[in-house]
Amino acid sequence: MIEIILSSYVFILGLIVGSFLNVCIYRIPRKESIIKPPSACTTCGVRLKMIDLIPVFSYIFLKGKCRFCKEKVSIKYPCIEILTGVIYLLLFYRFGLTTELLATAFLMSILVIVFFIDLKHFIIPNELVLAAIVGGIVTMIYNLFYPIQLYGDSIWWNPLMGMFVGFGFLFVVSLIVTLLYKTEDAMGMGDVKIFAPIGLFLGWRMTLLALFSSFFIGAVISVILVVLRIKKRQDTIPFGPFIVAGTFITMMYGKHILSWYEGLFHSVF
Ligand SMILES: [Zn+2]
Repeated sequence: MIEIILSSYVFILGLIVGSFLNVCIYRIPRKESIIKPPSACTTCGVRLKMIDLIPVFSYIFLKGKCRFCKEKVSIKYPCIEILTGVIYLLLFYRFGLTTELLATAFLMSILVIVFFIDLKHFIIPNELVLAAIVGGIVTMIYNLFYPIQLYGDSIWWNPLMGMFVGFGFLFVVSLIVTLLYKTEDAMGMGDVKIFAPIGLFLGWRMTLLALFSSFFIGAVISVILVVLRIKKRQDTIPFGPFIVAGTFITMMYGKHILSWYEGLFHSVF
């Protein structure tokens, strides 16, 4: 019973955070403040009241329209709220009510913003990388006093190693790609930079797995998009969303994947 109550609290918290993430996704690429002014209709500019700001429910009550100008409100907003709620819920099932939940939910919140901004604008803003790094450093310092399970061991420099592995590996890849193909946009520096905080949060083992998963998901989805003719071969497909997906899968199933992988080796040799 208590489990159900806690789950619904976590889910509702996710919905509320998700509605703030919507504000960030809309405003950060436009270089607007995410705090002021309060939310307003993007068409008529009328300030939204409390009743318009309840995640998901406002959208349903108002039938997806602005209360004042009746202009359609994008279905994207409630979807991102629900998505954030579901991510929080899954992380809660994975980590329980722990510091790990707090840390991973923080990182995933930033990564949800990264996902949608990169998808639309092909950038990963530095503010987001910085915010994530601050969270990663706090987690690392906390770990010195109260060791947490995220890193897989209690070696204090594991998160730093994760940062260098994630950032360093992608930096070398982007350098090689740039030299080989003489193109600047093969892999954006944003993709490289966002792996610094991911490394801080995951430690080096899980960071390697997150890197691998991102490339794997990216390759599979890109091939599907090209085969289905949704994208042409020379189209740019942003890498950020794959990083976000790869990191989330690693948070959720990394332990299982690593032990399965080790088992594979033990059975072969
Ligand atoms: Zn309006």
